[in-house]
Amino acid sequence: MYDFLIVGCGFAGAVLAERLAAEGKKILIVDKRNHIAGNAYDYYNEDGILIHKYGPHIFHTNSEDVFRYLSRFTEWRPYEHRVLGSVDGLLVPIPINLTTINELYGKNLTSDEVTSFLASKAEKRNPILTSEDVVLNAVGKELYEKFFKGYTKKQWDLDPSELDASVTARVPTRTNKDDRYFTDNFQAMPKNGYTEMFKKMLSHKNISIMLQTDYKDIIDVIPFRTMIYTGPIDSYFNFCYGKLPYRSIDFKFETFNQEIYQETGTINYPTSNLYTRITEFKYLTGQKNSKTTIVYEYPTADGDPYYPIPRKQNQDVYNQYKKLSEEHPNVYFTGRLATYKYYNMDQVVAQSLALYRKIKNQEIYVN
Ligand code: FAD
Ligand code: UDP
Repeated sequence: MYDFLIVGCGFAGAVLAERLAAEGKKILIVDKRNHIAGNAYDYYNEDGILIHKYGPHIFHTNSEDVFRYLSRFTEWRPYEHRVLGSVDGLLVPIPINLTTINELYGKNLTSDEVTSFLASKAEKRNPILTSEDVVLNAVGKELYEKFFKGYTKKQWDLDPSELDASVTARVPTRTNKDDRYFTDNFQAMPKNGYTEMFKKMLSHKNISIMLQTDYKDIIDVIPFRTMIYTGPIDSYFNFCYGKLPYRSIDFKFETFNQEIYQETGTINYPTSNLYTRITEFKYLTGQKNSKTTIVYEYPTADGDPYYPIPRKQNQDVYNQYKKLSEEHPNVYFTGRLATYKYYNMDQVVAQSLALYRKIKNQEIYVN
C-alpha cells in the first residue's frame, strides 16, 4: 500500500515525492514518458551536447526558499540569459532597453531621453486588460508591431488583444542598458543538468518510480491512499466540461561542426520565419565542445500540452474543473497543467512546497 500515488515526474511531482518521502511516506510516482524531470528533462545527444528535450529551460527566481530548497540536490553554474531580437535587419536586445532604441533609431539617447521618447510613442491604456494594452501602453504601436504582434501570433495563434495582460507583461521595457532577459535575484543553471538534479530528488528509498505508465492503467491494481495529480486537469475529468486549450511546440534540433552558432543564448524572430526563436544550448549549460546544438521552436496547436493559454474563456472552463476537483478531497492537483497556470519552474516548486505544507497540516489536524 502506497501512501501517495503521484502522477507526473516533473517539478510538481518530484518536489512532493521528495518532501513526503522524507516524512516517511511511501510514494509511487508514475510518468507516461520514458524519463523523469518532465518538461525540464535534459540529456546528452548523439554528438555529446547536453540539450533540453522540451525547449530551453533557464532557471531564475526571486524566492530564496525555492533556491535554497533546490540547492540540496544540485550545485549551480551562474548564468544570466541574454536575448537578441532580429528586427529591421538588426540584432537588438530584448527586452526593449536603451540600447535597443538607440540601435533601432540610430540615436544616442540617455536613459532620461529614452523615457521621454517612449512616453511620446506610448498609447496610454486604462485599464490594462490585454497583452496588447500592456505593450501599447509602454512603447506604442510601432515597437509593438516590431517586437510583439507577430511573435505573439506565432506563439499563441492569437492576437495580443485576445490574451490576458499577464502574457506580454512577462517581458518588461527598460530605459537602462540592462540586457539580461531576467532580473531575478537568483539566476543559475543546475551544474550537471536538470535530470541529474531530479535523480537526486527522487533517490530516497521510500520513492518507487514507474515510467512509461499512464496512471489510468494502474489505479485499479495498485493500492494507494491519496493521489497527487500533475497532468492536465481536463484529462483527469475526462473532458467533461470540454477540452482546455494548450499550446504546443515542435522542437527541431540541429548540430553544427563548429564551436559557436550565434552570438547569444537565444535569438527571437518576432516578424520573420515560422519559428519564434533559436536557442544555442552551450550558452546555457557552459559546455565546452567542438560542436554545438541549437533548437528552433515552431509553435503548434497539436502535440504535447506545454502552455496553458491565459484568457478569460479558458479560465472560466478551468474554474469549472477546479470546482469539481474540490469534490475529490483524496486527490490534490498541482503544477502547470493541473492548475492551468502559465508558471515558470520556480513558481511550480513554490506551489508544490506550499501544497506539501498544506498536506502536512491537514494530517496533523486529522491525527
Ligand atoms: P511537467 O514538467 O509538464 O510534468 C508533468 C508530467 O506529467 C509530464 O512529465 C507528463 O508526462 C506527466 N503526465 C501527464 N499525464 C499523465 C498521465 N496520464 N499519466 C502519467 N503521467 C502523466 N520555466 C522556467 O522557469 N524557465 C524557462 O526557461 C522555461 N522555459 C520553458 C520553455 C518551454 C518550451 C516550456 C514548454 C516551458 C518552459 N518553462 C520554463 C516552464 C517549465 O517547463 C514548467 O514550469 C515546469 O516544467 C512545470 O512542471 P510540472 O511538473 O508542473 O509539469
Ligand atoms: N513576446 C513577444 N516577443 C518577444 C518575446 C516575447 O511578443 O520577443 C511575448 C509573446 O507573447 C510570448 C510572451 O511575450 O509568448 C512571453 O515571452 P517569454 O519569453 O516569457 O515566453 P516563454 O519563454 O514562456 O515561451
